[in-house]
Amino acid sequence: MRDIRILLVEDNQPDVGLLEEYLSLATEASYPLTHVDSLATCLKVLNSTDFDIVLLDLGLTDSHGLQTLMEVVHQVPTLPIVVLTGLDDIKTGIEAVKNGAQDYLNKNDLTLALLEKSIHHAIERKRMLVDLNILKQREHELAMHDSLTGLPNRLALTTNLENIILHAKRTLEKFAVFFIDLDHFKVINDSQGHDIGDCVLQEVAQRMRSTLRESDIVSRIGGDEFICIIRDVVNIADISVIARKIIARMQQPVNIKLQDYYIGCSIGIALYPRNGADTVELIKSADSAMYVAKEQGRNQFQMAHPKINKLAKKRFNVERDLQRALAHNELEVYYQPIVRTDINNILGCEALVRWDHPEEGFLLPDNFIPNIEHSGLIIQIGEYVLREAGFRWKTWRDLDIPQLRIAVNISPLHFKQPNFIHRLKVILDEVGSDGCWLDLEISEALILDLTPQILDHCEQLKAMGIGISIDDFGTGYASLSSLRNYPLSSVKIDKELIDNAVTSENDNKFIKGILALAKQLELKVIAAGVETLEQVKTLNSMECNRIQGFYYSKPLAPPDFEGFLLNFMRERAKKSA
Ligand code: C2E
Ligand code: CA
Repeated sequence: MRDIRILLVEDNQPDVGLLEEYLSLATEASYPLTHVDSLATCLKVLNSTDFDIVLLDLGLTDSHGLQTLMEVVHQVPTLPIVVLTGLDDIKTGIEAVKNGAQDYLNKNDLTLALLEKSIHHAIERKRMLVDLNILKQREHELAMHDSLTGLPNRLALTTNLENIILHAKRTLEKFAVFFIDLDHFKVINDSQGHDIGDCVLQEVAQRMRSTLRESDIVSRIGGDEFICIIRDVVNIADISVIARKIIARMQQPVNIKLQDYYIGCSIGIALYPRNGADTVELIKSADSAMYVAKEQGRNQFQMAHPKINKLAKKRFNVERDLQRALAHNELEVYYQPIVRTDINNILGCEALVRWDHPEEGFLLPDNFIPNIEHSGLIIQIGEYVLREAGFRWKTWRDLDIPQLRIAVNISPLHFKQPNFIHRLKVILDEVGSDGCWLDLEISEALILDLTPQILDHCEQLKAMGIGISIDDFGTGYASLSSLRNYPLSSVKIDKELIDNAVTSENDNKFIKGILALAKQLELKVIAAGVETLEQVKTLNSMECNRIQGFYYSKPLAPPDFEGFLLNFMRERAKKSA
């Protein structure tokens, strides 16, 4: 028979006798009984001996009512308790159950069956309650931790940060928030697969943890973003020492399955209270500073300061207003012709976005595109322009306007989206055309980022009949030879080089070099930003015949572009007549 060890807390001797007698007659289990008659001895005995249940009279010589129960619950929160009440004392019994007892028994109404039933129910109820609490605790821990690295997650970080701020308000503690973003992690993840990516993140988490003190907090708030809180900052100079230490640790290669992987990190640092009074402000300041560190060339740290915050605020305002602009059709697409001078014809045009801002008037893209290069909005805008250009091409085709190719600018973030090709196909389906009319202009920087994913996108585009053009070529870092790795269709020479084509012998030679190599690689060359007849003549003399620029036309709204086109065709017909 099972033993159920009972602690009976009762100062009324006849009641003790009655209970002992009942329990000795029990058949369902055996009930070894320990009896004490005061709260003080009860607490003492509970400290040293294990029991399965407490039968507790609330009116003792040294304690009365619910207070007695509270003290016992406090000392042994997982032990079941059945409260013993007197005649007509149902109210106390109910209160006791509300305050942590599992059941109550009226001593004057007691039977053996009732007593046994109550003991077993109380034990079962408490067991379920304890299990439920363990589950809840586990759930809480899961909700607060990043399962990959075991570090606190964003939720835990913000809770921690709120508590640290409260503490710092009382103690005047200074602390720093490090917003850390890994450099080149996406390249490893995309090219080597998520398993390797996961191992890198685990190693990074471990390195950060071991670089900082126990009292500092290291958390992973998403993808390859981490936030560390450096506690008790005495000297600001210490902060840069810690930042350099982290950067140095991150630069050491990560060895996985005998292969070395190289990453790095950019860190933005916000100090409390200088750069923010609450969690949101501090994280925002550190995040903005991190962007600056990244823009300055990675493997760097940047302290937050008000100027950076102002920039971030502007970025935020632009993002908010652009969301509205997309919803209210405030964006427009203009078209700038690209002329082929050797056959005196219009080849195509470039689609360029404009914003008819309700307060600020007509905005050119330089006023808003740079602010959203890192945000998902650039993708929405890219898709908007693609769709608009597609429908425009279809209208022109239906109007019997000569078939033109349209070039659309695609930001690196957009091009790198894993579903980029799929989304493009969806847009072409909406338009009801294939890709025969479309060229995508991508930046040199994208080509330097030689990942299998980018290459795969380029190959799929080629198979769809879509051209790929390298924009603003000649001022960045890409060499023409690096272009041979990609199935490109053209390069667009940057305006800066074109500006100097007439005046600088070196730039003139450079353009000639580009043209010669492009010929070998079978790439078309377009000269952008051409403003004068002299420039046209110089370019033509080098056999560069694809020209875009104000010399022919500024970017035009669709009706004006159509007018330009008809006019050009009329003039052309006149000349050939
Ligand atoms: P970009 O791709 O280099 O586009 C050419 C820019 O040069 C256009 O400025 C155009 O108006 C300007 N331009 C063309 N010919 C001449 C000329 O002879 N002289 C001068 N001074 N400028 C000339 P815009 O439209 O202001 O666009 C600026 C930049 O904004 C673009 O540079 C492109 O990087 C970006 N952009 C424009 N539309 C889009 C878009 O739909 N998506 C994305 N991601 N970026 C866009
Ligand atoms: Ca362009």
